[in-house]
Amino acid sequence: MTVRSKPRIVQTDNPLVFAQQQIDMAAELLQLPKAAHKLLRDPLRELHFQIPVKMDNGTTEVFPAYRVQWNDARGPSKGGLRFHPKETLDTVRALAAWMTLKTAVMDLPLGGAKGGVICNPKELSQTELERLSRGYMRALAHHIGPEVDVPAPDVYTNPQVMAWMMDEYEVITGHRAPGIITGKPLDLGGSKGRSDATARGGIYTVREAAKVLNIDLKGKTAAIQGYGNAGSFAHKLAVELLGMKVVAVSDSKGGIYDPEGLNYEQVFDHKRRTGSVVGFPDTRPISNEELLELDVTVLFPAALENVITGENAHRIQAKIVAELANGPTTPEADEILFQKGVFVIPDILCNAGGVTVSYFEQVQDAYNFYWKEEEVHQRLDEKMVEAFYAVHNIATERQVHNRLAADILAVDRVYQAMKHRGWV
Ligand code: NAD
Repeated sequence: MTVRSKPRIVQTDNPLVFAQQQIDMAAELLQLPKAAHKLLRDPLRELHFQIPVKMDNGTTEVFPAYRVQWNDARGPSKGGLRFHPKETLDTVRALAAWMTLKTAVMDLPLGGAKGGVICNPKELSQTELERLSRGYMRALAHHIGPEVDVPAPDVYTNPQVMAWMMDEYEVITGHRAPGIITGKPLDLGGSKGRSDATARGGIYTVREAAKVLNIDLKGKTAAIQGYGNAGSFAHKLAVELLGMKVVAVSDSKGGIYDPEGLNYEQVFDHKRRTGSVVGFPDTRPISNEELLELDVTVLFPAALENVITGENAHRIQAKIVAELANGPTTPEADEILFQKGVFVIPDILCNAGGVTVSYFEQVQDAYNFYWKEEEVHQRLDEKMVEAFYAVHNIATERQVHNRLAADILAVDRVYQAMKHRGWV
């Protein structure tokens, strides 16, 4: 079967519109009953609240916050929490929808959720950040739980924030509950292998993509947009595990290019000392826009939403686009890349290593028994390979692009769970 529905071209950069469009296309191809489609294209429930925080100078600030539980038919909802000044409710909703699809693509017994607090963590002291984190958990404690909804870190939240939140939850409920949150420090029930899991999972999918495309990645080039958790570990592991040459990397301040390949330890150290990759010696400065259009074998968008659009998709030269970021490619760009023969590894597959190891963390917390790092890597590898071929087989059979194939797989799995529960 070929694609009957093409994305409507809409002039928007609202990720929720894109997420709903992706669900619509999969639902149409699967001929989903109307009620199931309706349930899946909007969140099951949302919490909107305000968090008052006593600031160090004695004043009180009030921060708007959200938790969106998109769908929990397959299990407790799962998804990260962002602290960001530009966070919007619709972005949180879109990310919650993608989490629902992501856990289903990975065949994890989980649903999807996302949280956000509108704040600028760079302007908060550690004590203010702690009070904000505890305030978020106080507002949410009676609406989440290890068997209900489990948050995790995302942009500008980290293991320390998770530790404060876990402690607050345990104070409120009066019992130990490490499974309430993932991405915790190791001494509080975190999992080995969580820190590089997103990049590592993505690298495993690139390895498999190269096999089906018959490309030998050794010595081939890569470019990475974004140099945070996902992007910097992608640099390290593309070199270490695939033998690739990373020729360009960037962050919010700009990028650097060296056709001979960039040394991970040195670039990482430069960013740690100066706050940016920019200014790394003996490299040519490059803009974020130029980086995306470089003639490389693999392009890793690892920063933001909507960076590959109808405007620049024609100029993408990479053979493989490995989406470590959530939502970097618009539906219009998807069609263009598909026509050009670019192999896109969609976000809900490519960056699913993070939630997969978060799930492993929940399993270990429930066992109260912890695995060695090699065991985490091996189990992650198995899950990524299984999901990669489940998506690839649908793409090949139906002659659709990988994102639509992943959406078809995920939407069908969530639909089956809703049907078995008798919801639809
Ligand atoms: P992070 O906060 O650690 O890093 C973000 C990076 O993006 C920083 O280097 C920042 O400088 C850069 N950046 C910001 N604005 C930019 C711009 N305009 N141009 C270029 N670079 C810019 O965040 P992260 O955890 O690495 O997440 C990055 C992306 O990966 C996000 O879309 C996130 O949702 C997604 N993701 C992360 C994880 C995870 O486990 N960390 C899991 C799944 C998906």
